[in-house]
Amino acid sequence: MLERNTMVYTTVTRTISLFLVAAYLTVASTPSAFAQSRVTVVRDAEIEALISEYAQPILKAAGLSRSGIDIVLVNNRSFNAFVDGRRIFIHTGALTDAETPNEVIGVLAHEAGHIAGGHQERLRQQLQRAQTMAIVSALIGIGAGVAGAASDSRGLATAGMGMAAGGAEMARRSLLGYQRSEEATADRTAIDYLNRTGQSANGMLKTFERLAGGMALAGINVDPYQISHPMPRERIANLEELARKSRYFDRKDPPQLQLRHDMMRAKIAAYMEGGQAVQRLFRGNPRGIPARYGDAIATYLNGNPRTALQKVDALIAEMPRNAYLQELRGDILIKASRAEEAANAYARALSLAPGTPGLLQVGYGQALLATGKPDLVKKAASELQTGLSREPEFANGYRYLAQAYGQLGDIAAADLATAEGHFHLGRYQDAKIFATRAQKRMKRGTPGWLRAQDIIQYRKPG
Ligand SMILES: [Zn+2]
Repeated sequence: MLERNTMVYTTVTRTISLFLVAAYLTVASTPSAFAQSRVTVVRDAEIEALISEYAQPILKAAGLSRSGIDIVLVNNRSFNAFVDGRRIFIHTGALTDAETPNEVIGVLAHEAGHIAGGHQERLRQQLQRAQTMAIVSALIGIGAGVAGAASDSRGLATAGMGMAAGGAEMARRSLLGYQRSEEATADRTAIDYLNRTGQSANGMLKTFERLAGGMALAGINVDPYQISHPMPRERIANLEELARKSRYFDRKDPPQLQLRHDMMRAKIAAYMEGGQAVQRLFRGNPRGIPARYGDAIATYLNGNPRTALQKVDALIAEMPRNAYLQELRGDILIKASRAEEAANAYARALSLAPGTPGLLQVGYGQALLATGKPDLVKKAASELQTGLSREPEFANGYRYLAQAYGQLGDIAAADLATAEGHFHLGRYQDAKIFATRAQKRMKRGTPGWLRAQDIIQYRKPG
């Protein structure tokens, strides 16, 4: 299940200095300089697990290794990526553009190179303290009003593209603009990390070549990444020379990783653009697993659960231990109102997935809730609670938790769950209303009462 969290955020729409951006992220600024824009962040267990696997060896080589780095996927067709040491921000477009894992890994290595080089240190420090959505709207998803439009209507998106281009790009330029010398340093450092992890720099080279070429051709529709990372020809030439020197230059990604990568691309294409986009993407191999995976997802999204189920079951027969095929099976069964079978599929997905993915656990709880059977609803509340304790920012999950508590007759817990949901969507006023309501039914000093108190007393940073 690929979940979308759309948020209306104030975003920067005209040229402002680095200093102002830092101020914007920490204190409220004059509204005249900003406009409302919609940003969509997507959550998906399969994609997050894969990107985290790509990143871990590189971050370790860079000395930035930490457990549980957050992956923030921004629903945007353009190419962009940014790493702040505790989070990786990446546009879904950057993932579908990348034909191999190595291309994504190369970009992550380059970003790690910027961190290691201390580039944009002051902005980075501000960002470390900022809330995820503030960064997404101010830095990564600028012009994301365009992305928001894209999920409603493709025609609108095209119209928005031209309008958003001028102002937003000026803003990007001033937000995160690396110097040319910094680019060269980050490239060299990236190659070092790739060598140390036994990986090729070919993917990084290919990506930057493509971006540098696109700039000249496309003119106005420039990827945000190109604006912040200058790509003159001599930089690409130097990068190529260094990349080819490595003994790993011709090394390919392991076939299993490539397969997972292609399944991820199929999923993004199916969710963001539909079945035809999947077909376009896998023209060369229309009967391969990724193409059929994307097709099964598109069939499910088109409201045809019976056919989708046949398609996913055929894939499961080939890959019985793939957690995310089980998850898709669960999603389909929910749509087909077969909640208990869906719960079994999610339980299997949970047992097959690496780690303890909170997102899958929320899916499991959601299915248990849908059965409507009192003992299973009780289990739903506990699974949702645990899943959300692992993924506290997964705002959609609180809706199910509130429903579960409501069905169990625990009104105070239901109100608190609703308060949490509003809170994590940045709707602090609504959050406080529900937290206050919850508190009235709670015993003073209990964990629930204290959490409600935190929400009531919360002040926006700055
Ligand atoms: Zn760069």
